[in-house]
Amino acid sequence: MARRRRILIAVALILFVAAIGGLLLLLSGRGWNPGARPNILFISIDTLRADHLGCYGYQRPTSPHFDRLAAEGVRFARAVAPSSFTLPSHVSMFTGQEMGVHHVASAGTAIADRVVTITEVLHDAGYATFGFGCAPYLKRQFGFAQGFDFYDDRLANVGVRESHAAVTSDKVVNRALQRIKEPRGKPWFVFMHMWDPHFDYVPPPPYNTMFSGDYHGGFSMHNFEQNHGFVVGMDPADYAYTVSQYDGEIAWTDSQLGRLFDALKKMGLWEKTAIVLTADHGEEFLDHGQRGHGHSLYDELVHVPLIVKLPGAASHKVIDCAVSLIDLYPTLAELAGVRRSGYRGDGRSLLELIFGRGQCDANRMLVSETNLSRIDKAHDSPHGYEMAIEVGGVKFFHRFKEPLREMMFDLRVDPREEHDLMAARPQQAAALRNQLYHQHQQMNVRAEKLHMGQPNKVDMRTHEQLHQLGYIQ
Ligand SMILES: [Zn+2]
Repeated sequence: MARRRRILIAVALILFVAAIGGLLLLLSGRGWNPGARPNILFISIDTLRADHLGCYGYQRPTSPHFDRLAAEGVRFARAVAPSSFTLPSHVSMFTGQEMGVHHVASAGTAIADRVVTITEVLHDAGYATFGFGCAPYLKRQFGFAQGFDFYDDRLANVGVRESHAAVTSDKVVNRALQRIKEPRGKPWFVFMHMWDPHFDYVPPPPYNTMFSGDYHGGFSMHNFEQNHGFVVGMDPADYAYTVSQYDGEIAWTDSQLGRLFDALKKMGLWEKTAIVLTADHGEEFLDHGQRGHGHSLYDELVHVPLIVKLPGAASHKVIDCAVSLIDLYPTLAELAGVRRSGYRGDGRSLLELIFGRGQCDANRMLVSETNLSRIDKAHDSPHGYEMAIEVGGVKFFHRFKEPLREMMFDLRVDPREEHDLMAARPQQAAALRNQLYHQHQQMNVRAEKLHMGQPNKVDMRTHEQLHQLGYIQ
């Protein structure tokens, strides 16, 4: 009898403790448990426009697996890339700083060794770290290998043409899986850079015919950068075919990551793994007369997908609050339970919004920037350095070089950025110009202090004066 009573008391005690624990979890707003330390899978898909994914409203079924991930997790409806080209945007993700602060924006710069990347934070926190870079700008020479136990950039080391046309998503998934399967007594952080949606748009079968309809033209996707036929006024059938091939690349990439997600489920790792899926920038398909990326800051370039799936956490939601990719640094640090990462940047942990601990800051300024210098000819913008800020759904563009240009769009009513409001709202434009100038100045001050890359020591006004005098381009 005494034994039975002891068992009953023990059971009652366990139930009581469990109930209190559940209540505390409920009271804490289902916040993140800092001791959880899940595996972290960080996926950056190069050149992926948000509006070409089903979960962001696209009419074509390009992304069944991403859509499912978004349905299970949290989808950020408005995520902004800090830059419209590969190198600075990725550096912003890894350092949590705007391009105007890190200045790692061209082939002549790299992340300085003394900079503490998010990988180093996670590595110091006891994570096993593996990274896969598939593009020239993701090579270790740019500083991305910092903090990784193993950084694999072999797929980025093929020739220029081959690099454009290469099909690498399947190989990256295989290599990542190989690392994930290795037995180890600690959580892992895996970074995967997916390159295929970047031109050349040459998806493998059956993705090359998935969206092309009955096209029988001869418009070539090879050496796309040299294809001068992709211009305003081109044959609509050739245009549609080009977009169909881009969409095919997205569907192919989605299928490969779907394979990875299935494997994680089979291994019993799905519920122990946090997944962050995003893109470094989008792509222009003549939306505003231009092609490719890096030249401007329209939404087809800076509105990127951002999906976060947390293990076992309440989610299934869409967050409208506008966020930036610089937020990933503090987010990943918090996910790993790191309280003091030493991070000094404008990024904010997305867990605040996901768990409803923090309100959306409607006045927050989101920054995007184009090429900073003329060092890298391949990505040099004919229009010079341009900066855009977005505050409360209104986006203001300022180009710093001749021909000087300013534009302002209200994205809430004009998501395609077709109606420039500079003339209609001069006061708002002036206020945003002041904010932009101030931000630009602040970033320059921080860049000089932090020395994360090559500092731009010429302040904006002086730059303009020197240009007017013809001393600099
Ligand atoms: Zn890119």
